[in-house]
Amino acid sequence: MKTTLLTLALFCAVPAAAAGLRAGAAAVDVTPQEWPIRVIGNFGLTLANSAHDPLHARAIVLEDSGVRIAIVLVDSCFIKREEMDRAKDLAAKRTNIPVNRILMAATHTHSAPPSRAKKGDGIEERYVERLVTQTAEAVVQANGRLQPAKIGWAVRPVPEELFNRRWFMREGGILPNPFGETGDLARMNPPAGSDSLIHPAGGTDPGFSIVSIQTVGGKPLALLGNYSLHYIGGVPGPEVSADYFGEFSKQVASRLAPGDPAFVAMLTNGTSGDVNNIDFIHPRPRAQPFERITAVAGKLAGHAVEQSRSMEYHATAPIQMVERELRVRYRRPTPEQLRFARAALEEKDESKLPRNAKTYAGWAIALNDGPEFADLKLQALRIGQLGIAAIPCEVFTEIGITLKELSPFRPTFTIELANGHYGYLPTPRHFKLGGYETWLGTNNLEPEASVKITRTILDLFEQIEK
Ligand SMILES: [Zn+2]
Repeated sequence: MKTTLLTLALFCAVPAAAAGLRAGAAAVDVTPQEWPIRVIGNFGLTLANSAHDPLHARAIVLEDSGVRIAIVLVDSCFIKREEMDRAKDLAAKRTNIPVNRILMAATHTHSAPPSRAKKGDGIEERYVERLVTQTAEAVVQANGRLQPAKIGWAVRPVPEELFNRRWFMREGGILPNPFGETGDLARMNPPAGSDSLIHPAGGTDPGFSIVSIQTVGGKPLALLGNYSLHYIGGVPGPEVSADYFGEFSKQVASRLAPGDPAFVAMLTNGTSGDVNNIDFIHPRPRAQPFERITAVAGKLAGHAVEQSRSMEYHATAPIQMVERELRVRYRRPTPEQLRFARAALEEKDESKLPRNAKTYAGWAIALNDGPEFADLKLQALRIGQLGIAAIPCEVFTEIGITLKELSPFRPTFTIELANGHYGYLPTPRHFKLGGYETWLGTNNLEPEASVKITRTILDLFEQIEK
């Protein structure tokens, strides 16, 4: 009895962390400062000389009942785990938010510099260093702005901007892959309007998720969107751009919080490995640069703003976040692919080779000589009844739909390209169909990877359900 009373007294002496949401947000600039700099997202070398629009790292920090988390989004095509871990370490040291309570993702703009520098390239090395420190800085600033807040969420279907980009084609509609193999049954980005189109090999996820955060007095603080659309593109080569992700942030801010530099909006990438904005059946006339970026971002911004004004807000929302490392096998080239790759690299006349053969040959050899396993960092978090999963790949859309359906949380969405990057993540069915997203080099993980990842995420959701 005595011990019980003592324990109780000790327990009571520590004040319980107050229930009630607090939130802070910040955006810091990560635009390159030196030119020219490489831009990735397309095959072949593209050098940018200027920025059409700035690149940012954006952070939202949330806390309830003593649990503090950060969600960070960076305008980059992808960021490898090592650079993300460095940014998280820096942020954790300066904020006391543990590394395993930081979700960090890239938007997947295809017009930003690579997040890993080419050795000896000073401009790229300085860019990457700044990217890492500024990304941490975004978390520090958001953390410094924590204030009492309320949060709401909603999902709106926006199906009309989404097109599955993998197609079954009539005889002759599919080219050999970069290893000269001819077994593909699906083709990525076939010519729009082609007579060879049969039907898409997969669907789309129309659910546009919106999370809105306001001060207790109702002033907008931050907004997070999640949409399963690869990117828009149409950015002229020599320019850097945040694509429609940046434009969304700008348009939401100008409509919801005009003139308020502290307001932050971000558009996270859902599960869009096989979904883009090209209408293959009804080809559209070629748009002006940035025309479609502005239009699609504007449409989503309109939905987000409208929804944020009508949704239900919660002044307290239990927050839980867990992460787990999942070890999966890297693929290796077959002996035939390895032979082909070595010969391709020797070949002087590229016209004798399949398209992009030398690029894939390099990747195949790197995979052959590289590590046997990838340790993927997977995360699941809940904010009240909202569930968020984080996967470090370009995730096929049906994986996201499965997680939405099987998650114990309503609604649930997935942020892809989070906490690292390991290439495309098709389902085993898509893996069998072949196509760009399954070619060795653009696809690096074992064919069962998506099954293992989905199971692990559902397990993590279960862990935080109670
Ligand atoms: Zn991509």
